[in-house]
Amino acid sequence: MSISAVMPNYARMDLVFDRGQGAMLYTADGRSFLDFGAGIAVNALGHAHPHLVMALKAQAEKLWHTSNLYRVAGQEKLAERLVANSFADTAFFCNSGAEAMECAVKMARRYHQAQGFKDKYRVITARGGFHGRTLAMISAGAQEKHLDGFAPKVDGFDQVPFGNLNEARAAITPQTAAVVVEAIQGEGGIIPADPSYLQGLRAMADEFGLLLIMDEVQTGMGRTGKLFAYEWAGITPDIMALAKGLGGGFPVGACLATERAAQFMTAGTHGSTFGGNPLAMAAANAVMDVMLEKKFLPSVNAVAEQLWAKLTPVVAKHTKVFETIRGKGLMIGLKCKVPYTDVLTQMMHQGLLAVGAGDNTIRLLPPLIITEAEVDAGVAMIDRAATAVVASSQLPAEEFSE
Ligand SMILES: *Cc1c(COP(=O)(O)O)cnc(C)c1O
Repeated sequence: MSISAVMPNYARMDLVFDRGQGAMLYTADGRSFLDFGAGIAVNALGHAHPHLVMALKAQAEKLWHTSNLYRVAGQEKLAERLVANSFADTAFFCNSGAEAMECAVKMARRYHQAQGFKDKYRVITARGGFHGRTLAMISAGAQEKHLDGFAPKVDGFDQVPFGNLNEARAAITPQTAAVVVEAIQGEGGIIPADPSYLQGLRAMADEFGLLLIMDEVQTGMGRTGKLFAYEWAGITPDIMALAKGLGGGFPVGACLATERAAQFMTAGTHGSTFGGNPLAMAAANAVMDVMLEKKFLPSVNAVAEQLWAKLTPVVAKHTKVFETIRGKGLMIGLKCKVPYTDVLTQMMHQGLLAVGAGDNTIRLLPPLIITEAEVDAGVAMIDRAATAVVASSQLPAEEFSE
């Protein structure tokens, strides 16, 4: 057998990190990197944040897991805080983004079916969307690269073009239960929804009695400069999925909902063995302690403004490498003209980590605690990486221009 002991289902970079501090990551062999990937938007407060370390250490010495056979104090505290700071009335805890979305779709189906509408189970989703890797969620996202070899698709998802309200309305049938949307498509390439599109989906859901599900697994927890990205559009969803930044690096997800949407999620209808265990809740409550401080979101917006102001001219300067910059807050996409992997590789050589995405785009998802000095360092490395991409290209530079 030649298969590696770790299943080879990832195309991993040859880097092994040993420790992290704030926005920095260090390998055992002494290399250091500025982390503008944050574990794919997970390390929202950077690495080894003292308050998170303290909270997790203290909990680790007391109690790790009890199951959901019993009340969990940390769940009650976290749920109350999420409810107090969002549209939601109630929260279910799980371990990942995909599970949070599974709960969202199950809840939407049950909302209609418990009221006697047995045929209402279909969910409208947007092309280019990403909702996780379970069988149902690869069917919801419906990207060929994620479905390949995993047929048959789970029934009940209807794709429409992202951003097109007419197509969304045209896809509604008597079987439609809900509509799912990301405020900014993350994995799809940092493609923001127009606020008017989200407002239109809200109105459409109300008009046709559908539930509006927002997948804020990536956009939530301060990433865009508000606690939740739906706030920018001045609307509220009926159901929302969270994960990534919620635990600051500890695996935890949540499905938030209004009382109306969740009214049929009674005892025994849904569950998770690990979901919301005391360790996960200690981590997530520690994240909330920091994010709910009055100064936290204003400081995220201030540093995001600095990053946009400094990065925009660099992107404009490298016309052969970059097509555009897009996103919101500290969720930034650099759409490339050259293969994005070439740019990512040069960034890595400079000492900067970022993440690839669809639509030939690089995702910059720095920890929300980055400093202005780290912004300057990161932008300088992107500048040098773009220069190196053109210099190292086999093709004459003008081949890349449009
Ligand atoms: C990452 C992501 C998911 C899946 O989260 P997992 O924790 O990997 O299951 C779902 N939706 C969005 C928008 C994401 O960015």
